[in-house]
Amino acid sequence: MSKDKSRKEAVSRPAALRIIPLGGVEEVGKNCTVFEFQGDSIVVDLGLDFPDPDFPGARYLLPDISYLKNNKQKIRALILTHGHLDHIGAISYLIRDLGNPPIFGSKLTLALVEDRLREKNLDKEVSLKEVDSNSVLYFGKFKINFFRVNHNIPDSLGLAISTPFGTIIHTGDFKFDENPVDQLPAEKDKLKGYARNGVFLLFSDSTNADVPGKAISEKTVGQMIDSIFSKIKGRIIFTSFSTLISRTYQVIESCQKYQRKIVVFGLSSKKIIKIASELGYLKTPPGLFIKPEEIKNFRDQELLFLVSGSQGTEGSAMSRIAKKEFHGLKIKPGDTVVFSSSAIPGNEIAIYGMMNNLIDQGAEIIYEPILGLGIHSSGHAPAEDLKEIINITKPQFFVPIHGGHYLQAYHIKLAEEVGLRRENIFMLYNGSILEIDKDRRARVLPQRVVKTALIVEGETVRPFSGEIFKERKKLAEDGICVVRFEEKVKNFVRIKFYGLQIEKNTIKEIEKRVIKLIIKYKSRRDREEMVEMSLGDFVFSKIGKRPRIVVI
Ligand SMILES: [Zn+2]
Ligand SMILES: [Zn+2]
Repeated sequence: MSKDKSRKEAVSRPAALRIIPLGGVEEVGKNCTVFEFQGDSIVVDLGLDFPDPDFPGARYLLPDISYLKNNKQKIRALILTHGHLDHIGAISYLIRDLGNPPIFGSKLTLALVEDRLREKNLDKEVSLKEVDSNSVLYFGKFKINFFRVNHNIPDSLGLAISTPFGTIIHTGDFKFDENPVDQLPAEKDKLKGYARNGVFLLFSDSTNADVPGKAISEKTVGQMIDSIFSKIKGRIIFTSFSTLISRTYQVIESCQKYQRKIVVFGLSSKKIIKIASELGYLKTPPGLFIKPEEIKNFRDQELLFLVSGSQGTEGSAMSRIAKKEFHGLKIKPGDTVVFSSSAIPGNEIAIYGMMNNLIDQGAEIIYEPILGLGIHSSGHAPAEDLKEIINITKPQFFVPIHGGHYLQAYHIKLAEEVGLRRENIFMLYNGSILEIDKDRRARVLPQRVVKTALIVEGETVRPFSGEIFKERKKLAEDGICVVRFEEKVKNFVRIKFYGLQIEKNTIKEIEKRVIKLIIKYKSRRDREEMVEMSLGDFVFSKIGKRPRIVVI
């Protein structure tokens, strides 16, 4: 959209507030929401998503920011709720396209962002502005206050966005924990304060809407980890989310108590521990962490390996250990692998595959979701906490975020249970426009600004193409048949299959078929066309598959 056109639009809609989620309302991932009023926009979070098997070969999915790109002159700020990749992971890929707006976030969040920007030499281009839960920011008619929330990374913030229509509460990712380990309890009093003046709209985290009850406190998790460590006689291999600094803290405490040294494997764990201890979020007692080459100086019961990759991500340290591809650590009978984590939806198959391999190598597995020991507490509010935040804020309108529509449907039921009316609740799609008019009426506009995502392959960002992924899946399932024939050599045909096991006789038959076609058609073009067109059915009749036929 041109500058003039967008200005005209702002003038023609003088009092409409628009809220546009560009990601995060159809999935747990790539969170990004735009708040727009008159000529000013603020963007909350800019995260990535890890692709599921529907996107073979893609490294990450990012929000489609074409709408923001076309309106970048309006962007006043990117405000971050916390440092998880589904909230910050797209910044280093997309911030330039947004015109490098200033980025606001808490100390740890910005340190994690800076680290990713530095990897791409972008850290000097972008201005990072630290905020805490008492900061106040002004952008046009927006006023932003923050409130502290509990989550499984320290320094997580929720936002109270004051607009001419009233206050919007955006919880970010949150839970309530009265006894957190590396953070203070969530600031419920601030929420109560906003509620006294009236909360117009609540955006709230749906991740655990289908989990009943209240969150287990991190303190309880620490006690359970301690009790498990007290019983293990051999080596402990401990894996969790690398940004879950409170869990690392618990491991440090228990290792000190039971005199175990810690060896860290995995780039992300090493990086987070370094950043967190430099910034004072984690105390690393001298002599507790040892290098891999020192392992030989200690007995099995004196060692704990802190390993990245609890989700079974390909290439992660834990996944390589399970596949016997990791040089630093070979599993042996007597080892106990503790998974202090839950599966991010979609990762279950990779995790179970990893556990099968570990068991085959003689390890004992302790996996929280099955054993329910209390050695992991999710960072997201379960049902009772979700109801509590609705009860505290008493919003006029409600939008469930951070989760697919299955989770949002659960969340909507909870909201209705505590008295919200269905017509005041909006289930949005990525790219939906929620508009609030000057009479404070909210409605979802029929059009959407985007419907897809961006794809990262290697380090390159590309537009999403459904056709490409359809083709990749077909190639993976049906393979390729390469047909080579020489114009000058009579009856010279060679067939080679890729990704398929074909008997020699069948190949000979297919070659004969191609020779027939070559004899029948004279020009190179006709021959190629006819082979590509008519060989498919013949190959299918022989092998039951339709490989891509390529004539060279
Ligand atoms: Zn998070
Ligand atoms: Zn998140």
